[in-house]
Formats: sequence, structure tokens, C-alpha cells
Amino acid sequence: MSVNARILLLALVAIGITAILAGNSLFGTRKGRQIRERVVASQEQLLAVARLKAGVWPFLNTLSRMKENGQDTVAFLHERENQVLAEQTQLDLSVDEEERISGDSGYKPRTDERREFSEVIQALLRWMEKTEARVRAEPAKRPIPPMLEWELYQDYEREVGRDMATIEAAEQEELTWLRQHWDRNVKRSLLLTHIVTLACTVLMVALTLFLFLPLRGSLRQLRSVAERVGRGDFAVSLPTMGRDELGLLAQAMNRMAVELHGTLEEKQRLMKAEAEVSEREARRYNAILEETVRARTTELEAANTRLEESLRQLQDTQAQLLFADRLAAVGRLAAGVGHEINNPLSYILSNLRFIQRELDRPEAAGLPEKEELMTAIGDAREGADRVRIIVQELKVLSRPDELTLGPVDLGSVIRGAASIATQELSERARLVLDCQDVPPVQGNGPRLGQVMLNLIVNAAHSIEPGRVEENEVRVVVHMGILDTVIVEVHDTGCGIPPENLERIFEPFFTTKPVGMGTGLGLSVCRTIVVAMGGTLQVVTSEVGRGSIFRITLPTGIAAAASLQGNPS
Ligand code: ADP
Repeated sequence: MSVNARILLLALVAIGITAILAGNSLFGTRKGRQIRERVVASQEQLLAVARLKAGVWPFLNTLSRMKENGQDTVAFLHERENQVLAEQTQLDLSVDEEERISGDSGYKPRTDERREFSEVIQALLRWMEKTEARVRAEPAKRPIPPMLEWELYQDYEREVGRDMATIEAAEQEELTWLRQHWDRNVKRSLLLTHIVTLACTVLMVALTLFLFLPLRGSLRQLRSVAERVGRGDFAVSLPTMGRDELGLLAQAMNRMAVELHGTLEEKQRLMKAEAEVSEREARRYNAILEETVRARTTELEAANTRLEESLRQLQDTQAQLLFADRLAAVGRLAAGVGHEINNPLSYILSNLRFIQRELDRPEAAGLPEKEELMTAIGDAREGADRVRIIVQELKVLSRPDELTLGPVDLGSVIRGAASIATQELSERARLVLDCQDVPPVQGNGPRLGQVMLNLIVNAAHSIEPGRVEENEVRVVVHMGILDTVIVEVHDTGCGIPPENLERIFEPFFTTKPVGMGTGLGLSVCRTIVVAMGGTLQVVTSEVGRGSIFRITLPTGIAAAASLQGNPS
């Protein structure tokens, strides 16, 4: 049943119930009013009868007094008759009223009531006339004998009073019946009202439950589904609820859920596609970014390497500059000392040579101290030679700028130095030459030979004699950056303690025993290399594991470029 039909049915039932209640109330009220009117009419009749009865003795007494006083009793009779007739009219009217009410309600008056009233009133009128006549007939100005009064009253009782009492009793009985009937009617009406009200209430409640309980269940289902849809759960389906409005609503809900589900899926699909596109774009940008970063990193690394190299060169240069002052002082001292020593040393040597030559002549063969003299002279020459070498080296230190530079083939220079050092190396280590093809460097061949010989001999001296196969002196040559050539001398010798690393390039610093080293080798080597526009440094040195010395020299191209960049 549709909701409209349910509401219509409920309204109809409510209207019906209201009509029944109203009808019941109307009927009860009407019935009550009729009975009340009947009661009132009956009471009026009783009152009229009572008034008639009550007027009998006063009539008799008044007549007696009037006769006694000599007054006109006839006039009084007429007056009283009119009053009685008025009462009759009143009684007739009340009987008319009774009959009118009886016609609608069925509460009929007693049969011949009108006739009874009429007869008793006629009888009363007759008694009154007869009584007045009797009283009038009595002698005037004398009181009426009580006996007569009694007789007249007895006549009244006989001719009128008995019938009047009967009528009064009948009226009283009717009134009692009417009152009882009225009570019964009120009770019945009340009962009926209660029963009808209760029945209507029960019917309404039952009908409401019958009509709206299923409606409530369906509405609950609809509400829960609407809430789930509201929370985004579109996997809902309402059971078929018939073809009423709720059924249509359920179908509409199901359709809405399906459409929303479809829309949501479409939206999710679009969002996913959008996310994929964004991710692809992000990946692409990422790849570009990574590539850019990689390229920039490579560039930065290269720049960094160049910077590190430049820094190292700068540090070397700075160290050399710091050292330059001391070297300059040493150089000036060396120049002075060399100049001063050189002359005496020349003639010490020439005189020693002369003495040696003279002693070697046959004429001196007989001299007994000849052998001793020859030994002393040999020692003196050796000492003087060492002084000469030192002086030469001091000259290099004092005037490094005097080197003449030109293209030098490093390979042949290294091979030459290696062959000279063979003697020193033979008992200590294997010599390995690892030379790549490099362009000629800008330098001075003999001086570079001196540098290489010095480094190889130092490497050999760092290795204890005796374990040739376990030790190695390796000379490596390869290209460096910015058109430079790098020469490295690796050894597996004793290494240099950290505290000495700062000092090994100082002139006269040596750890070798007296007579073995002058301490001038490395400082002379660095002076020569720097004079050629290169650098000499210790790459690494670890005590007990060995050292690596590195020379960096400019090629002819680099030297030409630096000359172009700095023509002065
Ligand atoms: P000299 O060789 O006359 O001592 P150098 O100037 O050539 O003078 O060397 C100075 C010092 O540097 C050496 O006494 C030695 O202690 C150290 N030295 C040089 N080269 C090496 C090397 N390859 N291994 C270990 N120490 C070395």
C-alpha cells in the first residue's frame, strides 16, 4: 500500500471515529435535553396541581371572612375562578409541551391526561361555585359555622380532592420514572462514550502500528543507506520495497549509489592517470636534473682537481717562496764562500798536483817517505775534490737562473741516470722504468740528469743492502694536467719520519753519517727543477714502507703558452 493510501486510510478512519464520537455525544445530549424538558413539564404540572390544592383552604376561609364582613363574595369567586382557569391554561400548555417532546422522543404522557386535568378543574370550579353559593346563603354579619366549613371541605375532598390526589400521584410516579430514566440514560451515554472512545483509541493505535511500523523499518533502511552513501561507501543496495513511494525511493537510492560509484571510479581513474603523468614528468625532470647534476659534478670535480693541483702548486710555490729568502741568504753566503774558497782551493789543488807529479818523477824514487807522502797527498786531493764539488753545487744554489733551457727527452735522461746509479742499486733493489711516451720537457738535460741521479741514489740509499728481490725502485713517467709531465720515483725503503718531511729540502739537512751525505742533494734538485718552471715534492712517505717523490715539469707547449701569456 502506498504511503498516500496509508495516510488517506488513516485520515478516513480518524474522520469516521470523530463522527461516531460526535454522533454519540449529539445523541446523548439530545436525549438528555428531551428528558430534562419532560421532567420540567411534569414538575410544572405537579406544581400547578399543588397550587390548586393549596388554594382550597384559603378560598374557603376568605369566603367565610368576606361573608362575615359583608363583602361581595361573587367577585372574589370570579377572581378565583380566573386564577383556576389560568392554571388550567398553564396545564394545557405543559401537556402540549409534553406531547411535542413525546412526538420526538417517545416519552408519551399518560393517556387522557388533558381530559383528567380538565375534569378535575371543572369539578373544582363547580365546587367553588357551590361553596360560594352556600356561604352567600348564610345570614350576613355572622361568622360561618365551623361545621359548614368542614362539610364544604368534605365536599371538596369527595368531589375534587380524591381525583386531584390520584392525578398528583400519577404525576409523581411519572416524574419518578422520568428521573430514573434520565439517570439510566446518562449512565448509558457515559458508558457508550467510554466504550466508543476506548475502541476508537485501540483502533487508531492498531491502525497506526499496522500502517507505520513497516514504514519505520523501511525509513530506517533508507536512512542507514543514505548515511553510508554520505560516508563514501557506494557498495550499497536496498532490497525491493514494493511499488509504493518507498520502493521508488529505494530504487532511486540504488541508482544514485551505482552512478556515484561509477563517478568515483572515473574520478579515481582520472586522478591515477594524472598522478602517473605527474610521476612521469617528475621522473623526466629528475633524470634531467640528475644528468645536469652529474655533468655539473663532473665539471666541478674537474675544476676541483684543477684547483687542488693549483693549490698544491701554490702551496709549493709559497713554501718555496718562504724558503727562498733563506736560500737567497744561503746562496749569497755560498757565492761569497765559494768565491773565497775557489782561489785557494785552485792553487791547493794545482800545488798538490805539482807535488804529486814531482814525486812521481824517477829522481824521487829513492825518497824514503815517498809512499806516505803520496798517500797524504791523495787524501788531500780527495778532500779538496769534495770541497770543489760542494762549491759547484753551492754555485748552482746561488745562481739557478743561469741554466740554459731547451727541449729535453726525459726518457734518455732517466735511462742515463739509471745506468750511472747501477752500482748503488745493485746490492739493494731492482730498478723498474715505467715510462710512457711523453713530449719533450722544457729544461736543461745535464741538470735534469743530476736531479734524476740524485733521486734514484737517495731511493737506493733508503733501502738496506742485501734483499734485492724484495725491494724495488720504480721510475714512472706520464702526462699531467695542463701540458705537464710527471716523473715519480717510488721506493720501498725506510721512509721519512713526519718530523723530517718539512726539513729534507733544507740545504745541509742530512740523516746520513758524516762523509756519506752533504745534505745538499734535494735542495739543489728542487732549485734546478724550479728554475725549469717545475715542482719537486714528496707525494707520500711512510716509515718502513717507502716514499714517492714527484717532479712536475712543463712541456715545450706549456712553456710556450706561459711565455705567450707572460712575455716579460
Ligand atoms: P743527502 O742525501 O746528502 O743526505 P739530500 O738532500 O739528498 O742529502 O737528502 C736529505 C735527506 O733526505 C737524506 O739525508 C735522507 O734522510 C732524506 N732522504 C732523501 N731521499 C730519501 C729517500 N728516498 N728515502 C728516505 N729518505 C730520504
